Formats: sequence, C-alpha cells, structure tokens
Amino acid sequence: MKRVYNFNPGPATLPIEVLKEAQAEFLDFENSGMSITEISHRSKPYEKVHNEAKADILELMQLGDDYEVLFIQGGASLQFAMIPLNFATKENPGSYALSGTFSSNAYKEAEILGVGKIAASTKDGGFKRVPRQDELNIEKNSAYFHVCYNNTIYGTEYHYIPETGGVPLFADMSSDMLSRPVDFKKFSLIYAGVQKNLGPAGVVIVVAKKSLIEKSPENLPTMLRYDTFYKKNSLYNTPPAFSIYMVGKVVRWIKESGGLEEMAKRNSLKAKILYDAIDSSGGFYAGHAEKDSRSLMNVTFRLPNEELEKKFVAEALENNLSGVKGHRSVGGMRASIYNAMPVEGAEALAEFMKKFQKEN
Ligand SMILES: *Cc1c(COP(=O)(O)O)cnc(C)c1O
Repeated sequence: MKRVYNFNPGPATLPIEVLKEAQAEFLDFENSGMSITEISHRSKPYEKVHNEAKADILELMQLGDDYEVLFIQGGASLQFAMIPLNFATKENPGSYALSGTFSSNAYKEAEILGVGKIAASTKDGGFKRVPRQDELNIEKNSAYFHVCYNNTIYGTEYHYIPETGGVPLFADMSSDMLSRPVDFKKFSLIYAGVQKNLGPAGVVIVVAKKSLIEKSPENLPTMLRYDTFYKKNSLYNTPPAFSIYMVGKVVRWIKESGGLEEMAKRNSLKAKILYDAIDSSGGFYAGHAEKDSRSLMNVTFRLPNEELEKKFVAEALENNLSGVKGHRSVGGMRASIYNAMPVEGAEALAEFMKKFQKEN
C-alpha cells in the first residue's frame, strides 16, 4: 500500500488514525453485524454517533446550549441560498464582504433573491487579502453580516473577528473550522462543508444560535428551513449517516490530540515552514496572499512561468506530494495543509521546493 502526502483542497486528507478505525469496524459496527452505512438512522447505535458528534463539536467550540448543531446536505453552496431565504428581506438585507470565490457565490444567491448588499470587496486587488475592519460598510438594518473566514482558493484568512455594530455575524468556515481556537461566541451562525477539514463530502455542519433558527419564514419549503432541522435534531429525513459518523471520529481525534490549541500549534508550524520556503526563495516562489492575510490552511504561490509550474506539479507527484496544483482562477500552486496534514508533509514539500528551485 502506498500513501502520499495529500495537499488537495477538498475532498482532502483525513487523519490516518480515523481512516484505520473506520476500516476496522466497517463490516460490524457496534456488534450489529452490519456496517454504519446499512443501519437505520433511527437506531440506537446511530443516534449515539449523531448526538456525540454534535456534543463534541460544541465542546471544542466552547459554546453553550444556546447554540445548536445542525447537519444539512447540499454542500456549503446550499447554505449560500438557505441563509438569505431564512433571514434576509428587502427591508433587512444580508450584508456581504467579498473576499474570494465562495463569498462572491454566497452574495450571488442573496442577489438573486434581491436581498443582498455588498459591505466590502477586495476583488480589485485580485483577492490578495481580506477586507480590513475600517473597510467594512455594514448598514445598521442588515439582517446579518456574512464573511468567508478562510478563502480556500486565494489562500487568505481573517485574523480578526469583524465588529458589526450589533448586526449578527455569519461565517462560512468550510476550510478552517476547528483549525484553531476562535471566540465562536461572537458569531451567530457558522457553517462548514466538512470535506475540507473535517470529514468526507456529504454533510454541512451549521452551528447557530437557537434563537435564530427556532422559527423560519412561513413561505419556505420544508427542507430549506432551518427550523425543520432544529426541531427534529437534523433527523427530519435520512441524514448522511456515514459522513456524520466520520465527522464524529475526526472531531474526537481533534479532542484526543489536544484540542484546538494543539491544532493551531501544528497548523501554524506547517504554514510557517511553507511561507518561509516562499519568502527565502529570492522571488522564485511568489506568494499570492498579502502577508497579514495569509491562510494557515491553504498556501498559494506562483513560479516564474507556467512551464515550470507544470513541471513542479509533475515532479512533486513523483516525490509523493499530491494535489499541489492551484485553482484555475488563481493559477500556480496551492498546498492545503488542513488539520490532518502531518508536519512531516509540510517539511517534505518545503524540501522539495528548495531542491526544485536549485535544479531550475
Ligand atoms: C469548498 C468551499 C465551499 C463550497 O462547498 P460545497 O460543499 O462544495 O458546496 C464553500 N465555501 C468554502 C470556503 C469552501 O472552501
């Protein structure tokens, strides 16, 4: 068997311990004689998986029982639509900071509904940074202020929590949720497609203030309403049981590894190793993100020309470094170094970068 260092942006690398544990119990889950994918979502063993995952997520986020965890399908992309559908109106629109592709996609859904406002945008500079606090133009009557906390494609991340003047703060944390301690209480709603940092594709975690999701507008269809998921413990219909089971294991792995402090320590170290390799290359490698917006999760950089970039991707793979090709909208390279990427992986990539530069 061959395992590579997997730098893919998502679906992405998962902790090897979690994969092995799932493999070991796959054929016979909890003495049921069945796998987790074959048992009822109304059964006791599944219910335990479901509720423990929820509790562990809240515990890691240090949130109390004024918050609820929901499991919803449709990807983070469906949240782009559910948020304005549930909360925004023409009188109280949703306010958006545009900092990359996904925040722009989120705004687009509000725009389709005629309930979106742009509070800030860094598009003109090529999304090399997130907006600064003094650039946020959040109107008082906004239903919420939405940010994408880590911009997976551009490799930028917020290193501050926006002050909103009382407007509820919403965040897409698809690619950095549970990667570091954050004062999550400052947020009213957080969501993450788990396939970046927390599990296999198939489920989105939504963590929201209960007071916000108790009641949805009357005219919304059942599956687009947060209150449907809230009232039924995310079991109104069949949940993506396998994805939730895997998320539960990943969250447990985070807890047992030392929690968010330890994740932050490892993630900062990995990011430092790669940004140092960029900064010490004398311009051979050029980082996309401005320094104070650099992401700890997705490290984006370019080489002197596209030919060298192609060669870099191919030779990296020969060295067991997979998935370093950047998104087509930015070009160049992107190394995604989520929680499950070991420090050795970042070291191996940095070493390869130095070798490649010397040879080219
Ligand atoms: C990948 C990603 C999305 C889109 O997620 P889907 O689950 O594919 O809809 C949204 N936001 C961010 C920050 C992402 O990284």
